[in-house]
Amino acid sequence: MTTITLVRGDITRQSVDAVVNAANSSLLGGGGVDGAIHRRGGPAILAECRELRASHYGKGLATGQAVATTAGELDARWVIHTVGPVWQGPDSDPAPLASCYRQSLRVADELGARTVAFPAISTGVFRWPTEDAARVAVETVREARTTVEEVRFVLFDERAYDAFAEQVR
Ligand code: ADP
Repeated sequence: MTTITLVRGDITRQSVDAVVNAANSSLLGGGGVDGAIHRRGGPAILAECRELRASHYGKGLATGQAVATTAGELDARWVIHTVGPVWQGPDSDPAPLASCYRQSLRVADELGARTVAFPAISTGVFRWPTEDAARVAVETVREARTTVEEVRFVLFDERAYDAFAEQVR
């Protein structure tokens, strides 16, 4: 059984096995969660991301996919980088967003991670509406077959926290 917990706060302050990064396809850093993770986690994460680009992901990481690196100086063992979809309006397909959660949990299972912290993927720079993103996130995690024991959604602001709380209750 996977327990879903909600925390309002900063994902880079969590003590978990794996922290999920709302990355962009370049894997070379960005703003929002991505910037915060690289700032607090230190250069080891970016160094591994560069190696991944040079070896397996020459064209970058595709939307909906996930890959792990060290967590550097974060209080975690791994960062799982996943690339959310950009909101394209009401016709946007939620499948790639669901895939981010599913693929991140698959990577977590491969690593043996028991506790995983997720941000609200795609709800920042990628503009996915928070309420819809929360529904996709919670439904997907509930339906996932995973050995992860705790999925912790870490929400930065009250609106995101409330949207997730609405789905979890
Ligand atoms: P994306 O590009 O997938 O939209 P962002 O990082 O821009 O990703 O934003 C995703 C969500 O993460 C937004 O709701 C944003 O408010 C939130 N966020 C930004 N920084 C942090 C942080 N340090 N911890 C947790 N959530 C954060």
